[in-house]
Order: sequence, then C-alpha cells, then structure tokens
Amino acid sequence: MYIACSAEQKIFEIPAQGEAVVAGYWSPELGLCSQSVLLQWREGKVSSLQPSRDLENFSPKTQLWDSYFLLPGWSDAHVHLALDSLDFFKCLENWAQPALIEANMQRFLCHYLERGIVAIRDGGDLPAFAWRAKNKVMEEVWLGPKVIAVHEAVNRAGMYGRFLGRGFKNILEWREKEEEFFGQGLDQLKVVVTGLIKFNDFQKVGPTQWAVEDLAELVEAAHGRGIPVMAHASGEEGISVSIAAGVDSIEHGYYMTGAQLERMREKGIAWIPTVAPIGNILKYPTERYSSHEIDTLQRILAGQLTKIYEAYHLNVRLGVGTDAGAYQVQHAESLYDEMEWLVQAGIPKLEVYRMATQENARILGSPELGRLEVGTPMKLLQLGNGLV
Ligand SMILES: [Zn+2]
Repeated sequence: MYIACSAEQKIFEIPAQGEAVVAGYWSPELGLCSQSVLLQWREGKVSSLQPSRDLENFSPKTQLWDSYFLLPGWSDAHVHLALDSLDFFKCLENWAQPALIEANMQRFLCHYLERGIVAIRDGGDLPAFAWRAKNKVMEEVWLGPKVIAVHEAVNRAGMYGRFLGRGFKNILEWREKEEEFFGQGLDQLKVVVTGLIKFNDFQKVGPTQWAVEDLAELVEAAHGRGIPVMAHASGEEGISVSIAAGVDSIEHGYYMTGAQLERMREKGIAWIPTVAPIGNILKYPTERYSSHEIDTLQRILAGQLTKIYEAYHLNVRLGVGTDAGAYQVQHAESLYDEMEWLVQAGIPKLEVYRMATQENARILGSPELGRLEVGTPMKLLQLGNGLV
C-alpha cells in the first residue's frame, strides 16, 4: 500500500490502516483548510479527517506528515507512454525493441506517482505498448498511476497518425472492421480528425480526415458501447467537424474560435488545449528550431493562451493534458508545466487545480478520481506542498 508524496517526489509505503497529522488539505469539494488535521485510514481508504489540536494525544504510530497538505492526486488527460520526449523518429525505431520501451514506460509510471499524478489518459500507439502497460498496472505487476488507454487510434490510411493506428481507407473499411476493432479492448475511442499544426506556417494544419457524417458514425459506434470519444483536432475545419459529430473532448484544438467555444459549452464538450508541446519548446530553448519557427510558435502560444482564458470565462469544460512523450514534454514533469501555462493564461491557481483533479476525473470517465472524502483510496491522494 502506498501514498504519493509530490512534496518529496517519493512514494511512501504505508500500512493498510493508520493515522497521520497533515498540515491541512484541499479538494474541489471541501476547499482549502490550512490547519493541522488528523487523517485516519482503514483498509487503504480515508476513514476520518478531523482538525487536530493537541499533539500529545497522538500514538507513537501516528505519522508526522505535518509539513504536507493532503490533496486529491492529479491526473494528466493526454499522454503517450510509448514516446520518450527526446526524439520521435528514434523512438519509433526503438519500438522494435519492446524490452527497452517497457523499461522506459515503467520508469515514467513511477515518475508519475512520485509527482502526485495518480491517473493518466493515454492517446495511443500502434503496437499497443500503453494498453499493455495499463493491464500490467491493473494487475499490480507494475507500479504506476491508473491508466485510461485508447489502445489504438482511428485514423485515415495515408494520412497523419500512422504511429497511432493502422489507418482505415474509408468509412466502409471501418464498418467491416468495427467489431474486431472494439474487440481489441479500449477505454476511450481516439479519432485522429486532423493532421498536425505547422511550426513554420501560422494557421496551417494538416488535412481533415473525416466528413461530419463519417465521424458521427464513429462517435455513435463508440457511444453505443458506452465508450467516450476523444478527437485530435486543430484548425477551424477539423474542430467544427468534431463538434458537429458530437465527440466528448477536443484534444489540442489549436486555432480554436470563439464561436466554437460557445458551441462546445452548449454541447458540454471538453477542451484539452495541450499548451506544453508548443510552450515548452519556447520555455526550454534548444538549437532545434529556426528563428522563423520560434516566431510562429510564439504566435501560436499567444493565441492559445488567449482562447484558453476565453474558454474559462465562457465556462467551457477545460481539462489538463500535456501530450507527454512529445518533444520537450517530459512524462510527469510536464503536468506542472501545463498547469503553469494555464495560470499564465489567467486562470486562478486553485481553478487550475480543480481542472487537474475534478474535471480531469470526468474527462477520464473515472468518478473516483480527483476527490478527497471519507472512503477515498489513499493511493488516489497525494501529499503536496502548500498551495499558495
Ligand atoms: Zn497525443
């Protein structure tokens, strides 16, 4: 049994039953409490949380966690466990050596817990490394956060996403293989709706892969099985197609418009704006990009932050996802980058924390995440630093 301690970047081994003094707690439901609290747990779950005044009454077994705040663990709504943040093409070559990738993934999974991240949603890889990692964690063979995995993404053959999915020629081929595809197992359906943004061409996005009717058919196939749909989409056309087809979340969504945000709010569609893949290139400069690319990235970043603030004000559901595994987007670390970017966009810090806990829990489809109350499993919580 364990609890993540993000304050020390460690995982604490704990007994199934115990008690501890913490400096306070925070959760979206309970708010902030900045006084000393006695936390008790049984069978690995919180059994009581009470203000503690007199320190003499504690038994020698009481853990002194009095420099830590107890909070719900974070989750990251968009990662790629099978990518290493270093070199995309080299990493794809390394996929031929599964033992190497598995060792990487085990290391990343531990980092997630050490940073207080107790759940991640994986956006897929064609060889299904992340799907197998999910099962290893679930069977407690590997230590790691809960993994919600798409297994394999649905993309159009010959278009962007060949490392995410096999690629379907058209909707007819999809129909033929639909049963087999769902039979592979998946927690969410990821559809690649558009290509990538271009770092050297402002407002340019790779082509849209699906017509609205086709994407709507994919969405219905998933919804009919109780499976949520995440859409990789950027640019006006691809985002509009995704909204019209009724997806559950839009991933990346660069070049979002105000009118699209309004429609997303009406339809309850969440936006995971993944600032880190562009922002971190500027935050951690390297020689890799030309000055023209850096200028373009700066314009994209500024636009994205403005739209994020607008979305927050419009009450659009906003999730926190990093695209970890992408260049300069380190597994686990980058969730802190992403939260900082959202604060930089103008969202109050505790609201960003609410997004990285409560809203992400909804996006991940795991209501037990992102909360702190009697009955919450200790392994879904974290011991963090002070909050302000
Ligand atoms: Zn992704």
